[in-house]
Amino acid sequence: MIASDLSPGHGARLTVDLAALVANWRALAARAPHAECGAVVKADAYGCGLAAVAPALARAGCRTVFVAHLSEGIAARKLLPEAAIYVLNGLPPGAGAAFAGHALRPVLGDREELAEWAAVSDGRLPAALHVDTGMNRLGLSVAQALELAGDPVIGQAGIDLVMSHLVSAECPADPINVRQAADFARLRAAFPSARASLANSSGTWLAGDTRYDLLRPGYALFGGNPEPGRPNPMRPVVRLEATILQIRHVEAGETCGYNARWTAPGPRRLATLSLGYADGYPRAASGRGRALVGGVPCPILGLISMDLIILDVTDAPAARRGGTATLIGDRLDIDTVGQTAGTIGYEILTGLGSRYVRNYVE
Ligand SMILES: *Cc1c(COP(=O)(O)O)cnc(C)c1O
Repeated sequence: MIASDLSPGHGARLTVDLAALVANWRALAARAPHAECGAVVKADAYGCGLAAVAPALARAGCRTVFVAHLSEGIAARKLLPEAAIYVLNGLPPGAGAAFAGHALRPVLGDREELAEWAAVSDGRLPAALHVDTGMNRLGLSVAQALELAGDPVIGQAGIDLVMSHLVSAECPADPINVRQAADFARLRAAFPSARASLANSSGTWLAGDTRYDLLRPGYALFGGNPEPGRPNPMRPVVRLEATILQIRHVEAGETCGYNARWTAPGPRRLATLSLGYADGYPRAASGRGRALVGGVPCPILGLISMDLIILDVTDAPAARRGGTATLIGDRLDIDTVGQTAGTIGYEILTGLGSRYVRNYVE
């Protein structure tokens, strides 16, 4: 792809490929032909923009989405009048009327929440039950859930989905996957009238029975690799490009950036990019990250500034004032960028800034 020059009003451009997103959703769905494939669109659709992502998925046939908060559920409802919308972080005290008013389904994780929702729902408004099989984060314990299975409160709370979350789905050899799947199989049998959902992105790729009735992928939809260490089966969805503001020349011994963290070992050609950590590019990638200019990987020099990054473009003849550098895209996929910054691609995606021009392509 030849990057055209960016709009002069912004420092960087984020391109979100909605066709690739939909292709990824279909590829995930194909992993479990007998299950429904939902989509997790919390955190503004992993930083990609709920307003564009949610309708694109709905047009492709996605009927169930998951968000983290009530406010995200309300935003999703405006975009998706027909979808089933589950709110993963559950029912805050006193929020029953708001959930009912927007036809949102809380994911209930303790007895108080269940009782509170049962009083609002009276069996008419659906909800999910979250059972903890190892995270110790949210949800009833397996024992509590099995004990509640025959209780009238389950019907009164309209439980139509039983779910749990995998601890180490991206590590297929971790024995906890097998233990969680075994616990979940018992739960499913105890709640025969509810659908069952266990798999996130990586869980969808695990061997064995993890797919059940409803998949809950997030990361892989947006191009993240569900199988770290193996070739990524997903298509890249995001591309981040920044404008080159200036080209400079330095001689041996000159330094660049705050605290002079880089010293030129010889004459070098530098490019200053109009994007920094305030745009969501991690400062932790200082001195380690790379950007592509004309396809050539160029090292990020010294400390990343709030609004600026300095690149060594000595080996990239295409670098010129007004040109662009690619921070995410091509061989710099989100997993690689995350790893370079000592984090994960999830954090790169969800940190994508709001200062960019956003360009949605279909
Ligand atoms: C975020 C989340 C998911 C999606 O996980 P990915 O790894 O992004 O696919 C699924 N289920 C729960 C409970 C979550 O919190």
